[in-house]
Amino acid sequence: MAKNTLHCAFCGRSRDEVKILIAGQEGHICENCVEHAREIIDQELTAKEEKAKSSFKLTVKKPIEIKKFLDEYVIGQDDAKKVLAVAVYNHYKRLQQKNADAKEAEIEIEKSNIVMVGETGTGKTLLAKSIARLLNVPFAIVDATVFTEAGYVGEDVESILTRLLQVCNYDVSAAERGIVYIDEIDKIARKGDNPSITRDVSGEGVQQGMLKLLEGADVLVPPQGGRKHPEQKLIKINTHNILFICGGAFDGIDKVIARRVQTNTIGFNVDKELQESRQKNLLRFVNATDLKQFGLIPELLGRLPVVTHLDPLDAPTLRLILTTPRNALFKQYTRLFEMEGIKLSIEEKVMDFMVKKAMEYKLGARGLRSICESILTDAMYEMPSAAVKEFHLDLDYAQRHFEKSSINFLKVA
Ligand code: ADP
Repeated sequence: MAKNTLHCAFCGRSRDEVKILIAGQEGHICENCVEHAREIIDQELTAKEEKAKSSFKLTVKKPIEIKKFLDEYVIGQDDAKKVLAVAVYNHYKRLQQKNADAKEAEIEIEKSNIVMVGETGTGKTLLAKSIARLLNVPFAIVDATVFTEAGYVGEDVESILTRLLQVCNYDVSAAERGIVYIDEIDKIARKGDNPSITRDVSGEGVQQGMLKLLEGADVLVPPQGGRKHPEQKLIKINTHNILFICGGAFDGIDKVIARRVQTNTIGFNVDKELQESRQKNLLRFVNATDLKQFGLIPELLGRLPVVTHLDPLDAPTLRLILTTPRNALFKQYTRLFEMEGIKLSIEEKVMDFMVKKAMEYKLGARGLRSICESILTDAMYEMPSAAVKEFHLDLDYAQRHFEKSSINFLKVA
């Protein structure tokens, strides 16, 4: 065979039309086809990786196991844990369905975004964080109060997703299956019944802006957050698989619930005990109607189908929070002292004292940490330089250090 009749077995170009022809056992390949093959390999490998990533979702735990996991980090709040466990499980089942073949996916399962209603410091953020830890997905916390309607001073709602991108180092596919916790959702409630009187740029306007995000759509996100501007390169994120968990204290919602619950029972012979127990923790009965009454728009509530509540923390729960969760405060301090070679022991009465102060100062669980710090700071300051091997924290020491600390000024009248 003459030399110039050699050709690429893939594209058919002859020897004269290409720069290089690489010989194989039964034919040749040109540099263009090698290049092209390389691209195909890259694409295939990426697709395979994506598939492997999505199959990770198949290993999501069952609701009972999810709750057990949450129990390790969060004390009490059983109702919220159950509701969250089911919502998260269904959310990931929904993702699996998306991966399954089209025939199976005839019934589309809707997203189960969640609203948690409960006083501040009762564990809303902790629950959302623990869920993200369990699933090993990117997790971002954002505060609803920093956003305003597009065109006004403040951040665009799209920057909610910027936080998520930042936590996973701008890996878009990871961000697209993450969890976002939107705190203080109650602060963007509609201000009045008639929204047309004044522009409600940080209330209803923001709620409107959030609709697209929550529902699932392609959203253009400013990589650095803040406000979008024309020259900026935007990153496209699809929010279909992002789970949104919203939380808020909804101060005063108990009155809204009371009104509804009472109206429902008028005319019935409801026994007094039942009525009293209902009054005690009305949040248990919270539903979307109450949130609407509070000022969340129906379209937003439609995209937040799961509503749950967190109970106020009582003294026994606070006491458990000090010692029981996996990274309980006492475990953390014990470890800190241990790292200095000091064995820390804490008298039972000190725990009662801390709980009492947290209740008295209405500081909730968040306050327990400040109280511990106020009591232990001196010890943590001095002991690393002293030849101490043991430190027994008794009530007298705790009281003395607490009294002289600045936290003492926080007392609510
Ligand atoms: P919220 O989001 O409801 O305002 P957080 O979840 O941020 O409250 O709680 C503040 C801190 O209090 C947490 O970091 C955690 O240490 C502690 N905490 C609150 N509630 C609980 C709980 N139910 N179990 C364990 N720790 C809790």
